[in-house]
Amino acid sequence: MSHFHYRDGAYHAEGVGLAEIAAAIGTPFYCYSTGQLSENFGRFQDALGGLNARLYYSCKANSNQAVIKTLAQLGAGADVVSVGEMYRALAAGIAAHDIVFAGVGKTRDEMWAALEAGIYQFNVESVGELRALNEVALALGKRAPVALRINPDVDAKTHAKISTGKAENKFGIDIDHAPAIYAEAAALPGIAVKGLACHIGSQLIDIAPFRAAFQKMADLVKALRGKGLAVERVDLGGGVGITYRDEQTISFVDYTNAVAENFGNLGLKLEAEPGRAIVGNAGILVARVINVKEGVSRNFVIVDAAMNDLIRPTLYDAYHQIVPVIQPADDAAVAKVDVVGPICETGDLFAEQRALPPLAVGDLVVFREAGAYGAVMSSTYNTRPLVPEVLVKGDKFEVVRPRQTYDAIIGQDILPSWL
Ligand SMILES: *Cc1c(COP(=O)(O)O)cnc(C)c1O
Repeated sequence: MSHFHYRDGAYHAEGVGLAEIAAAIGTPFYCYSTGQLSENFGRFQDALGGLNARLYYSCKANSNQAVIKTLAQLGAGADVVSVGEMYRALAAGIAAHDIVFAGVGKTRDEMWAALEAGIYQFNVESVGELRALNEVALALGKRAPVALRINPDVDAKTHAKISTGKAENKFGIDIDHAPAIYAEAAALPGIAVKGLACHIGSQLIDIAPFRAAFQKMADLVKALRGKGLAVERVDLGGGVGITYRDEQTISFVDYTNAVAENFGNLGLKLEAEPGRAIVGNAGILVARVINVKEGVSRNFVIVDAAMNDLIRPTLYDAYHQIVPVIQPADDAAVAKVDVVGPICETGDLFAEQRALPPLAVGDLVVFREAGAYGAVMSSTYNTRPLVPEVLVKGDKFEVVRPRQTYDAIIGQDILPSWL
């Protein structure tokens, strides 16, 4: 059962009424559920139980340290895509040797910092990056543990902006080039090549692309071993989708089977890097209705959250369920409205022609499934302060990022000497 639900006519996060949080800290705010995070992590871990696998939570989905630390205490490592994320993971209590560094454009400075920290693995995405990492490692007197990220040329059948495993995407090493580059990696003195990685996209709701990619990866493991090259580890990436509307996503039974069938008897250490599947439905965005505007052709519900707080609808045409905090009567009439934010962009639109029960000025509304790629993608566009984040545990809640002040935003500008 969801840890976000109606109780006594009002929407709650676990045991805490959202109206209570809104009264304490104002709106908008993000709210995360410890119970949901734990449940999601546990389910994923169970799915790979017995397969010699370790979970490296993909911090880019939600990098609040309270979230990372909650997961770290359950045994998660961290998958990071920048040195900034590495510092966050370290600050949240993840040991360096539990960190995997992925990403298509690591700078030499980032490599240096991650080598000095002593991370578990670099997922390397090109021969140029491999050679640069070798040089940086040698300069530091170290050997960099590496998995080569392979682009298996598989269509993940997800939104174009979050599809990463087709040959025309910028990610990974073309699978046809992999044997030669793996052999080169094995010969470089600053590189300790450990295995392979792949990540074909995000929000996959069909198992078929995973099966296709895993099969190609398993074949590659065998081919490399056939050439006498050692392959100890395979990183399966993330990408398992969640339900935003009513879509049927991948079942853990299918996922487990796809992994076990392809890698089960290869004697590998497996890694998975789920992000969205851990935090997506463990977070919501709560906003207040500022105005209800009856237009000539449509009615608009204007809320105090906007695309700078949650950009997924604008960027990915994403659907987020919207629910009023006060539970509507079962027989409440619904009418189609556009739910929009106050930003001066037509794209600042959370939902178009959404059937909702009547909403009035001052009402609180919830955008569900906003835990992944929500707060982390927020900006201060229109000089709107970053909104607070709250973590709930049972009947307790605490602010885990305060609302940014106007002074903090405006004070960042420095006027040049001639003004
Ligand atoms: C974004 C990303 C992930 C996490 O993807 P989800 O869809 O959130 O699970 C994992 N690995 C890599 C390399 C990524 O870039």
